[in-house]
Amino acid sequence: MELIRIPALSDNYIWLLCDENKHCVIVDPSESQPVMDILAANQLIPAAILLTHHHHDHVGGVAGLLKQYAELPVYGPEETRSKGATHIVHEHDTIEIGHYYFHIMELPGHTLGHIAFYQAPYLFCGDTLFSGGCGRLFEGTAEQMFSSLEKIMSLPDETLICCAHEYTAANMKFARAVLPESETIHDYYNKVINICENNKPTVPTTLQIEKKINVFLNCHNIDLQKNIGIKPNSKPLSSVFQQLRIYKDRF
Ligand SMILES: [Zn+2]
Repeated sequence: MELIRIPALSDNYIWLLCDENKHCVIVDPSESQPVMDILAANQLIPAAILLTHHHHDHVGGVAGLLKQYAELPVYGPEETRSKGATHIVHEHDTIEIGHYYFHIMELPGHTLGHIAFYQAPYLFCGDTLFSGGCGRLFEGTAEQMFSSLEKIMSLPDETLICCAHEYTAANMKFARAVLPESETIHDYYNKVINICENNKPTVPTTLQIEKKINVFLNCHNIDLQKNIGIKPNSKPLSSVFQQLRIYKDRF
């Protein structure tokens, strides 16, 4: 299997996962042209489009791709039906596309219908988990997003987090402000800044790395709780998450 990352719009990534027969799935096409260019350049055959949620910067390229490939199935949650989804999928569904088996995980929070597609070791998680951060709560509650992130945390450490945006530098800047005493976060911040200065991508990342450097996955951290003005060991942890998310929105 080969994973291809296509930069699109200002900071989006469109992901392609290709098998040995050059069949590929296209995840969250925000635009069609960059995808068509890569398909042509590598003589790839599109097998399906996968949509994680309804936002325009994830579905904007569907119509353009269908114009070229009219028969292409489009898998997505109910909220993407009006954006071109032809196959509506739900929690625990498994979809078979060529040699792939994608497991559907419902991850409400950023939007209410947000899903991820998991084909080990790849997790296409849209705007739920980013490297060093997580999606904004546009439709769901903090509790919903917190349990969505816990669901992702239950996957194997070697899971490759294929998120839909290059937000890592800004996220690590926030992480450094929230946990200034963490050497791990400090080191990762420096690493990310260096990568970005060289115009290189910082994703995919692994769940193992995220567990160490992503403050949103570390709501149990006592220093973090103190630093955001929460009484240490207060429960539930989703309230720590909520406070942290509010801080980030204002950062
Ligand atoms: Zn979004």
